[in-house]
Amino acid sequence: MLAGGLGAAAAPARAAANVRLEGQPVQGGYVVGWTQPGAQIYVNGERCAPASRRGAFVIGFDRDEPPACLLEVHDRGEVFRRTLTVARGTFGVQRIDGVPQDTVTPTDPALLARIRTESAMKQEAYASISPDDPFADGFSWPLKKFRNSSKFGNQRILNGVPNRPHYGYDMAAPAGTPILSPAGGVVVFARPRMHYEGGLTMIDHGVGLVCAYLHQSKQLVKTGDRVLRGQTIGEVGMTGRATGPHLCWRLTWRGRHLDPSLWVGARRPV
Ligand SMILES: [Zn+2]
Repeated sequence: MLAGGLGAAAAPARAAANVRLEGQPVQGGYVVGWTQPGAQIYVNGERCAPASRRGAFVIGFDRDEPPACLLEVHDRGEVFRRTLTVARGTFGVQRIDGVPQDTVTPTDPALLARIRTESAMKQEAYASISPDDPFADGFSWPLKKFRNSSKFGNQRILNGVPNRPHYGYDMAAPAGTPILSPAGGVVVFARPRMHYEGGLTMIDHGVGLVCAYLHQSKQLVKTGDRVLRGQTIGEVGMTGRATGPHLCWRLTWRGRHLDPSLWVGARRPV
């Protein structure tokens, strides 16, 4: 819906290769670009997935992304270069008490081994790079009705102990509420009873943009399934580290933690 839309109204800087950018260069945000199919993309000198068959590509900005990010698009001997200025995100501090202690400071050796095994499985799923680009059409909300109970990026203090920032967008809703895939994609992970995440499903929405859906009470898709936008993939629950029923919705790209809520709605030309 956005291809050829918003970007045409403005006049983004152009070099040799034809490139159009849309999105929000802000910590936790992203930019979607359009160029020639198969053009090679580099971010800060790092080779990323090439532009898709429709010519779409993505750059994600970590919660703690430095302020300058160099994009290069190489296409048949032509090079487009642009340094993007990444705005600072505004993140709060959030104290949560009453979290099960073995999910805050685990000490049991068997549990620590389990956490390591689960972490390796998740890393493998996060490394997926599907050649498709459903992300380029934007996302819809994964729940029809919800209350945002925790924003992306909050510094967290769990049971009084400073913890990692919150890398998800929490959507509180009654247990059993259907979770709808916000975009098309391929399921790269689906397991119940993960120590932290409970029922966890991960979907590659294109070129390694992997969303995670946590704490589900019921999962309706399995690894390898292709899903369509709006398809029910599971149900809201409070499995894993949760103090009430909610969907923790996460998004990563090349090891960077992004705010998935910024993908809902129209994109601005950059
Ligand atoms: Zn969360």
